[in-house]
Amino acid sequence: MIKEIPIQSGTAFKILKGEKLKVIDPKGEQVSDMVLFNEKDIREKISSGKTLDFEESLLITQGHFLWSNRSRKMMKILEDTNGRNDFLLAPCSPETFQIMYNNPTYHPSCFENLYTHLKAFGIEPDDIPTAFNIFMNVQFAEDGKLSVRPPMSTAGDYVLLEAQMDLIVGLTACSAEDSNNGSFKPIHYEIIRRDTP
Ligand SMILES: [Zn+2]
Repeated sequence: MIKEIPIQSGTAFKILKGEKLKVIDPKGEQVSDMVLFNEKDIREKISSGKTLDFEESLLITQGHFLWSNRSRKMMKILEDTNGRNDFLLAPCSPETFQIMYNNPTYHPSCFENLYTHLKAFGIEPDDIPTAFNIFMNVQFAEDGKLSVRPPMSTAGDYVLLEAQMDLIVGLTACSAEDSNNGSFKPIHYEIIRRDTP
């Protein structure tokens, strides 16, 4: 069953080892931030540093694993129809809009949407790591300059992941203007459970 994350919001859920998660961009050009925690010990969580190190790439896509801070595989990317994701930048937060957008007023953010939904699992704001930013298009120049560009995903693009351990997943429809080409769209996702005998 496909579920919807409304614009500028998020969700959290459990997924068991061997189950699959499909994250879909239904309209195109919409980023979804994903964080992972070991369901049995939330101190183990997704690690950008370990993933970029072990996969020897800045661009994480089909065939790669997402690794934890304890150097264990959390998910495998089975399919990635768009192929451009980011694993460098932290989730957009209230401060992102103050510092990068010069906007002092309230603004929804992935960080808030992650910690409010993950609270039910005992996860606190300070526990939120750098997210795997699905469909996010961060370009890097030779001199190291980073720039956030519109996603290259088009309607229907998806990433299919397989859990390598029992996980708590936090997932958003990103709230940042620059990451989503200036407009906010929902994100769809589907948890594909194992066949039960
Ligand atoms: Zn965001």
